[in-house]
Amino acid sequence: MTNPLLAEGGLPSFSQIQPDHVEPALDETLRRNREELEQLLASEVEPDFVTAIAPLEEMQDRLHRTWAPVSHLQMVKTSDELREVYNRCLPKLARYATEMAQDKRLFRLYKTVNDKLDGANNTPEGKLLEHALRDFRLAGVDLPDEQKKQFGKIMEALSQVQAKFEQNLLDSMAAWSRHETDEKKLCGIPAAVLDAAQTAAADQDMEGWLLLLDQPTYIGVITHADDASLRKDFYTAWVTRASDQRSGSNEFDNTGLMEEIMGLRHKAAKLVGFDNYANYALASRMAGSVAEVTKFLGQLAKIAKPVAINEFNELQAWTGRELQAWDVAYYSEKLRLKNFSISDEELRPYFSLERIMDGLFQVMQQLYGLTAREEQDVDRWQPEVRYYSLINDQNEPVGSFFIDLYARRNKRSGAWMDECVLRKRSNSGVQLPVAHLVCNFTCPAEDKPALLTHEEIVTLFHEFGHTLHHLLTRVDYPSVSGINGVPWDAVELPSQFMENFAWDPDVVRNMSSHFETGEPLPDDLLLKLQASRVFHSGIQMVRQIEFSLFDWRIHSEYDPERGAHIRETLAEVRKSWSVIETPEFSRFENSFAHVFGGGYAAGYYSYKWAEVLAADAFAAFREVGLFDRGVANRFRETILEVGGTADIGTAFQAFRGRAPQIEPLLEQAGIVNSKSARP
Ligand SMILES: [Zn+2]
Repeated sequence: MTNPLLAEGGLPSFSQIQPDHVEPALDETLRRNREELEQLLASEVEPDFVTAIAPLEEMQDRLHRTWAPVSHLQMVKTSDELREVYNRCLPKLARYATEMAQDKRLFRLYKTVNDKLDGANNTPEGKLLEHALRDFRLAGVDLPDEQKKQFGKIMEALSQVQAKFEQNLLDSMAAWSRHETDEKKLCGIPAAVLDAAQTAAADQDMEGWLLLLDQPTYIGVITHADDASLRKDFYTAWVTRASDQRSGSNEFDNTGLMEEIMGLRHKAAKLVGFDNYANYALASRMAGSVAEVTKFLGQLAKIAKPVAINEFNELQAWTGRELQAWDVAYYSEKLRLKNFSISDEELRPYFSLERIMDGLFQVMQQLYGLTAREEQDVDRWQPEVRYYSLINDQNEPVGSFFIDLYARRNKRSGAWMDECVLRKRSNSGVQLPVAHLVCNFTCPAEDKPALLTHEEIVTLFHEFGHTLHHLLTRVDYPSVSGINGVPWDAVELPSQFMENFAWDPDVVRNMSSHFETGEPLPDDLLLKLQASRVFHSGIQMVRQIEFSLFDWRIHSEYDPERGAHIRETLAEVRKSWSVIETPEFSRFENSFAHVFGGGYAAGYYSYKWAEVLAADAFAAFREVGLFDRGVANRFRETILEVGGTADIGTAFQAFRGRAPQIEPLLEQAGIVNSKSARP
């Protein structure tokens, strides 16, 4: 029997893949790659890009071909058997990755080829080598043996302490609940949250409702519960997660671990030659220096703060009371409903999925002259999954994508884009890229089409932005094609850029159509929808900047002599910028998993950074007409096609004719004179 995960080309045979195939396929692929690597390193042939680097790219693609379908299925159609073998294989992959990153011989090979480039550093090949050499250095490959070992140990310890941080957070959330038998106390909380609480109570043979401290319940209570004491209880529990302020127990206190995490990060950064962890992180980012990020955040904060103060004062005046931290979300939601009075349920009938997809494809057609053609004869993992080829205006295929739209059991929640096949050129020609676009929309009832909320439409456009980034790449090397090698702080540019189309009045009018009457969205609803986009955006922006500055400062100001100064720094940042007073007992930082868990360490600013790029790029379109082909072609050529082979700052400059500016984002958020009036 042939193993479908070892197929050499074409699309994965999703329906054929069984859990039994996974481990043998991975073992075989890793064995082959290791064997070929040894042959390559032992080769007598003079190494150059073609003889040395191209085969390494080929190995990377081979591993992707074996593993990508597995990790995809584990997310969209998992089973106990698949999860078990998936988890068993993860350490094998990690070991292989470390082996490759720390192989001094391999590092020397890249260096030799790079030295021969001779002025060709700005070519895709030059950029690929530059990235690879940088990543080797960041992994400590050229350190003396003793220090290299130390670096490895620090990274291992870091991953363990970060995992412990996350575990404490989950445990401390699981350790708290609120039991309620009096229905009156629960007034205002959405039915879905109460249903879950009722099930939780029943599971433990309890009467009434057991409210757990998970995110949907917390959001449901803090935003909608009429009972202020209930909101206060939840708020207190939420901001004291994994801290010493939890009455009863310090068991899951993260305070010590945070100090340890900061120390380890600093040590690792120092070992490979950086002053601090923020500088280490910047080595692979678009932002150039600590000062540049600090200035960027400070600039946004200064402009947003007065707006946030106004919003808060207005809210307080409207409620006629002094608002506590646990009141803000609740009254803010009440005011939003009063001002805009549009609910998802009111909008939904106008947004049938099929029309929205047509509208999205039309935007793509108008911008880039691309047509999405649905193909039937393709193997898929679930009958309702669709597959489209993307055809350019010369009738040539560019790439293709799967769309898996609906929520199912055994499918991870959320929405994302993932790479199915990477673009690559080999002797047999170009392998065109294939993407996965995954959402979790509600499955349509039998007698009704699938109807979306506006938020879901924005999500669909966002993920389609990532999809186009993956599919429109012209780079032929997997390690730097599409989204690969794109700096962390710029990778959301194409996706957030596309979101803007889902807010454009003409686009929305055009793709809305009442599923019974065919009417487009009435103008008054359209206006309210537009206005709701900027509601309390000052408060939201200041909050995001507070998190970003806190994260940035603790990583860039770390001093081993005095420690991380975590609480003190957060208090200072809040004192300068926050408009809502934080209670003394708050230990929000102890649950800030974005930063202490790993992913966004010295990187929280990326949210705002990429948003600025996206808004400024979109403004270029608005200045000349939304569907101007000249601007669209320039955006495509300078940003979407280049993958990780361009310096993104230079690429943006080439697109915009200048460096990025923050004004378009401020306008879009209604923080400075917006063209669409604020209510
Ligand atoms: Zn995204």
